[in-house]
Amino acid sequence: MERISWNQYFMAQSHLLALRSTCTRLMVGATIVRDKRIIAGGYNGSVSGGVHCIDEGCYVIDGHCVRTIHAEANALLQCAKFGVPTEGAEIYVTHFPCLQCCKQLIQAGIKTLFYAKDYKNHPYAEELFAEAGIQTEKVALTDLAVDYHYREKAVHVRQLLKELETQTDDPEKYAALKAEAESLFNL
Ligand SMILES: [Zn+2]
Ligand SMILES: [Zn+2]
Repeated sequence: MERISWNQYFMAQSHLLALRSTCTRLMVGATIVRDKRIIAGGYNGSVSGGVHCIDEGCYVIDGHCVRTIHAEANALLQCAKFGVPTEGAEIYVTHFPCLQCCKQLIQAGIKTLFYAKDYKNHPYAEELFAEAGIQTEKVALTDLAVDYHYREKAVHVRQLLKELETQTDDPEKYAALKAEAESLFNL
């Protein structure tokens, strides 16, 4: 049996964390790793105890939601809060970091950045990472152990079933297909 690679494992963890995001503008997750151990994780969310964008809507100033702390910053702050050194650590993020997070990662001593998706990659951020000697590597999440689109898939399968119901002339076969879809997709 082939085991899931470390890169896929940590990237999957970040994708799982992203599902906890409270701002719907962008769901981001970040996992900080040292010596193949997860030392912290974060997602795009409000300050502890604060209202959530998903409940109250975003607080937008100049085209940016100012309510949330970015996933990378939340992961670093978790280390600060509990006194965990980040010097020489690696970070796995679902999206290429913004300029602010880029500077914070450099300043916190992060040495390697793995990211799954390009996201408005700022040339200055790329320049700063290079200057700081930080290795950046794109690692797409290829193992489907974490299904990032499970909600959309369930909605789609429900639509397909509805469509099939109107077209089928074999109600028994339809019932069997429906039962299987329901068990597979938790409908
Ligand atoms: Zn928001
Ligand atoms: Zn950021």
